[in-house]
Amino acid sequence: MAPLAAKERMKIARQDMPVQEADVRAGNFDEVALGFTLELARMEAERCLQCARPQCVDGCPVGVQIPEFIKALRDGDMVAAVQAMKAKNNLPAICGRVCPQEVQCESRCLVGLKNQPVAIGRLERFVGDFELRSRSCPPTRGASTGKKVAVVGSGPSGLTCAVDLARLGHSVTIFESLQNPGGVLVYGIPEFRLPKAVINAEIEFAAGCLEIDIRTDYVIGRTLTIGELLQEYDAVFMGTGAGLPSFMRIPGINFNGVLSANEFLTRVNLMKGYQFPQYDTPVKIGRKVAVVGAGNVAMDAARCSLRLQTQHARLNGQQPGEVHVVYRRSRDEVPARLEEVHHAEEEGIIFDFLTNPIEIFGDERGNVRGMRCIRQQLGEPDASGRRSPVPIPGSEFDMDVDTVIMALGTSPNPLVFVDAEGLQRTRHGTVVADQDSGRTTMPKVWAGGDVVTGAATVISAMGAGKRAAADIDHFLQGDSAW
Ligand code: FAD
Ligand code: SF4
Ligand code: SF4
Repeated sequence: MAPLAAKERMKIARQDMPVQEADVRAGNFDEVALGFTLELARMEAERCLQCARPQCVDGCPVGVQIPEFIKALRDGDMVAAVQAMKAKNNLPAICGRVCPQEVQCESRCLVGLKNQPVAIGRLERFVGDFELRSRSCPPTRGASTGKKVAVVGSGPSGLTCAVDLARLGHSVTIFESLQNPGGVLVYGIPEFRLPKAVINAEIEFAAGCLEIDIRTDYVIGRTLTIGELLQEYDAVFMGTGAGLPSFMRIPGINFNGVLSANEFLTRVNLMKGYQFPQYDTPVKIGRKVAVVGAGNVAMDAARCSLRLQTQHARLNGQQPGEVHVVYRRSRDEVPARLEEVHHAEEEGIIFDFLTNPIEIFGDERGNVRGMRCIRQQLGEPDASGRRSPVPIPGSEFDMDVDTVIMALGTSPNPLVFVDAEGLQRTRHGTVVADQDSGRTTMPKVWAGGDVVTGAATVISAMGAGKRAAADIDHFLQGDSAW
């Protein structure tokens, strides 16, 4: 087929991703977005103008070779598409699913100036899924340098750093405190957005090919310290994330039934709540749930609550319960991805905007029985540039809830800093590290991802892991001193 002219390409509409129907998916944990067929993927790939100076690449924190992989896909050469993709991104099936593409690569797409941008993330997922099935481009280990690196944490930053270092011939050991590798990818993001099978396959493939030693149930700061790792390893990378949740300081916060979104999602993911009722999980959910906050984590907690409620109700012949998202600002300020908010609304989540909790009530047994809230109005913009919420006097009202899930942000867990002498931290508890190299204030220790930035994104953590790996390599090869 002769290549299409740019004018013709601009006429092709952005291809929709098939999804499970809202009323069906609200009752299961299966993946919501079903992925492109080959036909849809190639049609979408036709929309790319193959720009000589592709701005989309500048919008990607790891610099994926976007026009190259899309062209190969369009031409039907899937192996070349995978090669182009994997030159910069080791986890495409994951990023294609969870990257906030609309504010990254796709926000810079030229087609987006007049039309909807090319669906780069969806195409990336298609290529990543092809590679998981075909395993056509296994990563290869470089000739051994004889140097040893310890990577603490197996989330996206640690995994990316480990993969890049192993490719360069360094011997890499990952230390992970939990029983499975993957970080927030496995214990935070729910199955219906990122199936465990996809994460496990990506990690096993990369770590297996590159002989990366992953040691789980290893808590650095307790089992071993950073100082002790430095006695055995030539360099240490810290990618320990930001897993310590914040809570509101309001009366009643200690009642049973108040929990953090991180704790709730970890339970759902690690205690197999997502396999209920086939698996007899200890994860429980109330009949009236309020999730406080409106970021991506809040959406995940609300949508998991709804699914568990629906399944329990079906099993017990009851009416489904209710899940509210309670947010102190308006819809315009919601920090979650629009797609996630839209999916949540379609599934039946109720949004209470301009509403802030001020007290939680308990019964005589210490269980949550309600929450007092106050209505808000928007005032002047605050330091974040968003208009700040101001309480409306006399507008208090009570909500009938039995579970309150707080999704209000997180900071790094300080356990890993035991015996990390000289490692500077900010007043928010994040590690001070050079943005370009990941070097910390402690010799031979690098850091990246959420432990440095605070809660951010998968791809920004991967970008930090990549930059640190490049600098660690220079250091180990003797090209730069500490
Ligand atoms: P993490 O993924 O947090 O990994 C850190 C790892 O270090 C963990 O496995 C932890 O167990 C381990 N660890 C911690 N302390 C120690 C220790 N002392 N010893 C050994 N190991 C330790 N981002 C997106 O881009 N898209 C999304 O859709 C999205 N959804 C999200 C949904 C939820 C529920 C959450 C919580 C986050 C979401 N994010 C999303 C954010 C994203 O997942 C994180 O920014 C990213 O995972 C950070 O990667 P990381 O490698 O820095 O840390
Ligand atoms: Fe876009 Fe994320 Fe893929 Fe980069 S990794 S090209 S930002 S979807
Ligand atoms: Fe293709 Fe858009 Fe990137 Fe241009 S900016 S190369 S059209 S994806």
